[in-house]
Amino acid sequence: MKCRFCHHKLTHEFIDLINAPPSNSFLTKYQLNELEVFYPLKLLVCEKCWLVQVDEYKKSDEIFSEDYAYFSSYSKSWLDHARRYVDMIIDRLGLNSRSHVIEIASNDGYLLQYFKEKQIPCLGIEPSANTAMAAREIGIETIVEFFGVDLARRLSLKGKKADLIIGNNVLAHVPDINDFVAGLKIALKDNGVVTMEFPHLMCLIEQNQFDTIYHEHLSYYSFYTARRIFEKHGLELFDVEQLPTHGGSLRIYARHKEDASKSITPNVVALLKEEESRGMLTLSYYKGFQANVDKVKYDFVNFLLNQKKHRKKVAAYGAAAKGNTLLNYCGVKKDLIEFVVDASSHKQGMFLPGSHIPVVKEEEITRFKPDYVLILPWNIKNEITEQLSYIRKWEGRFVVSIPEIRIF
Ligand SMILES: [Zn+2]
Repeated sequence: MKCRFCHHKLTHEFIDLINAPPSNSFLTKYQLNELEVFYPLKLLVCEKCWLVQVDEYKKSDEIFSEDYAYFSSYSKSWLDHARRYVDMIIDRLGLNSRSHVIEIASNDGYLLQYFKEKQIPCLGIEPSANTAMAAREIGIETIVEFFGVDLARRLSLKGKKADLIIGNNVLAHVPDINDFVAGLKIALKDNGVVTMEFPHLMCLIEQNQFDTIYHEHLSYYSFYTARRIFEKHGLELFDVEQLPTHGGSLRIYARHKEDASKSITPNVVALLKEEESRGMLTLSYYKGFQANVDKVKYDFVNFLLNQKKHRKKVAAYGAAAKGNTLLNYCGVKKDLIEFVVDASSHKQGMFLPGSHIPVVKEEEITRFKPDYVLILPWNIKNEITEQLSYIRKWEGRFVVSIPEIRIF
């Protein structure tokens, strides 16, 4: 196995989560009686470029089947985040009705709709046909394809180069990162800017966010590594922001190496220095992760066993992919967690992959009156605690298990 960026031979394990079913393969009642496929889930780290990556990515092609394509039910806070970004970037780059914006992995148009509102021409690129259809229905031109050099050349030939290319939470999913970033270079106008958001590997490691690891996430980036990859393809990262989204993300700003109109901000230098001082350019930084994750696992399992012993009732909230990684690595099944509530009607009536915990409507909480509600998507825990504040009436309490077990 070679590094998907620099092709150096990979020999160092970062974490072994043993195995898991595909994180979004929710099961019907009938499928509970069938065989369920578990794939190995192990990450390696490259000692040359420090890219953390999934062990076997051919398998994830099999996993990424057509029926995987779910509508992302975006939370209100994520939509607010998108709107604030659009206002900021229009102002910062001086975009107007003569500009052209491209978003890669544009989904159902959740972000481009705000450009459209301001009459700024935009184009979505989205490989999943049914979400692309939803975007077209709200009037956003969308190409149903994966992005790379080939598509970038065709756009460029049609005079469709961009002043701004956006990619949020897409870098982790890209199998051929070199082809993807080389495509950005081709599709970007001479003075154009690329912004990309992705979870920061530093936060993942330092806050034990191992539940954000699943088969569809092929790569995990530090700022250092992202910069090296863009640099190799003639793009310079000239600014970076640290965002609270998804437990700590980076928003990077790239331009052509040749574009002298935007100077490199002090943020770039400061973050590179910070990553280095934390040890992100040394192997030992990555080698300690497994032990920290295992501590989280044992504390969490202990908590659940204790509640069982004392006949306390535990339910969970949020049937998100990250919950499945946590529950499967911890070997938790429906004997320890009664059910999980999810707002999405697509998921209600289904069962979580691996753990087989049933997904139900929120009303079940009032009926069951759990002593503890475990919040699986901890990144939106404030939103959820507010929404479920009524559990205090029967002295119910909330629990998160990451970065460590906390009851509140
Ligand atoms: Zn490498």
